[in-house]
Amino acid sequence: MAGARITSTMQDDFPLTITTILLHGSRVFGRSECVTWQGDGARHTSYRQIEENARRLAAALTKLGVGPGDPVGTFCWNSQEHLEAYYAVPCMGAVVHTLNIRLPAQQLVHIVNDAQDKIIIVDGSLLPALAPVVGSFTSVEAYIVAGEGDTSVLGDRPVYSYAELLAAEEPSFAWPELDERSAAVMCYTSGTTGDPRGVVYSHRSTYLHAVSTLQSACTGASDADRQLTIVPMFHVNAWGIPFAAFMAGTTLHMPGKYMTPGALVDFIEAEHSTLASGVPTIWAGILQVGAQREINLSSLRFGTSGGAAMPRSLMEAFQKQYGVTIIQGWGMTETSPVGGLARPPADIEPGTVEEMDYRMKSGRLLAGVQMRIVDPEGNELPWDGESTGEIEVRGPWITASYFKGEQPEKFHDGWLRTGDIGTMDDEGYFQISDRLKDVIKSGGEWISSVELENLLTGSPHVVEAAVIGIPDDKWTERPLACVVVSQDTDPVALAEFLDGKVAHWQVPENWAFIEEVPKTTVGKFDKKVLRARFKAGELDVKRTHD
Ligand code: ADP
Repeated sequence: MAGARITSTMQDDFPLTITTILLHGSRVFGRSECVTWQGDGARHTSYRQIEENARRLAAALTKLGVGPGDPVGTFCWNSQEHLEAYYAVPCMGAVVHTLNIRLPAQQLVHIVNDAQDKIIIVDGSLLPALAPVVGSFTSVEAYIVAGEGDTSVLGDRPVYSYAELLAAEEPSFAWPELDERSAAVMCYTSGTTGDPRGVVYSHRSTYLHAVSTLQSACTGASDADRQLTIVPMFHVNAWGIPFAAFMAGTTLHMPGKYMTPGALVDFIEAEHSTLASGVPTIWAGILQVGAQREINLSSLRFGTSGGAAMPRSLMEAFQKQYGVTIIQGWGMTETSPVGGLARPPADIEPGTVEEMDYRMKSGRLLAGVQMRIVDPEGNELPWDGESTGEIEVRGPWITASYFKGEQPEKFHDGWLRTGDIGTMDDEGYFQISDRLKDVIKSGGEWISSVELENLLTGSPHVVEAAVIGIPDDKWTERPLACVVVSQDTDPVALAEFLDGKVAHWQVPENWAFIEEVPKTTVGKFDKKVLRARFKAGELDVKRTHD
């Protein structure tokens, strides 16, 4: 028997597909719900109904000529209809391509044409955002509009009403048998450091990722949970939450177009969300709402944050003011995305500084993902919590290539080069100190822009801080701190605030007070814009010393 491959059992044939997830959710957790916020109340739809609607949508798409492998774009908020498309499209054997509704026109045109989307399902309220670019789409044959809106802006291609298409179909579409390794979903990176790059997920990778995110080491979500999915469904599959929800029976709270922090708080209060997931900017916005009116977040079991580093002061404020624990996670489009969540070890006392230190890690490695830290020569560094290098990952839901893009420099020996720099300790906690493109190279040493930002945000005078490297004759690069201040202060005072918290030579001598830190389409600090503003001489830079 030793080493013999087992062929007589069923396990190799059991398909790890999104259809398997959908059928499980609708049969076992048919009463769990997708709850879409309407501004002053919510629309509740059961998972049983979602599956029926997905069958109707699949039947309609088939009649419109969508076949196996065809990309179908979605240009939607997080909503019931978007969820139905999330399941209908891959389960019929086509590929759902989630379009970022905030992309600049040129990038949107590029990704639709690059993917060759055949049909686009668009939310009626987003028609004005799509209108300026429809004339440049080369592959789109028709649009399906969910909800109301002026469809004349879509040009001369056929336009169908989502509701009418579904009403005309029976829920009898037979889901086909699919190869678990076939393409199911595609998503482009959000383009923080360059142009968006396409990543395609298979049924199998989506399935395995969803199972893994349900571990108690990750969200541990169950059918007792109501999960507010603030992270957009076009941002790395909303971190896999819609798929994991059908596995665990978790009710999904979908904000629709009501994405202001105030509206999100209304939703939490009205529907008693137990989990909420969003980028740090959103969490910061919710805290601002709490500064203006009384808010009740007591239903939240915890919140998750990812996509960018979470400032410690923000985590502490949520804990202190609302008793809400925020757990940070790390991932990227290329990793489906989850690579780890920074849940503290079980023997650490909650509420202690040590516990908060763990929560400030970027994540604890998730089962299924392998990670290593390498030096610039590609040598593996020890897991000692100190040796700093580029993070490389591999695993069943880590991409091995980009859509249509040969980018050998992003891969190394079968591992994905993440472009993130960090450390790993001997218990699998990793800490991202920066992106390779953002770290400041000063006199042969690295200065972490993220660490400076995090510390600055801890000052009572600072609302937001983004640090970029600027050219320096002597040191190659030096940090420029771009800060939004809430109270009267000056660069010297802020530099003194930092001194002692980081090495003296790491304290920026260049400061610019700005109105707001520019953000990317998914709410991350857009340092490309700050660099361009600096280059164009648009930032008023003050120096604390020469
Ligand atoms: P983009 O690279 O265009 O921002 P992604 O949304 O895929 O697109 O972002 C992935 C990147 O986000 C990671 O490589 C990392 O730099 C950053 N990131 C994600 N989570 C964290 C985190 N918890 N702390 C710091 N950086 C993070």
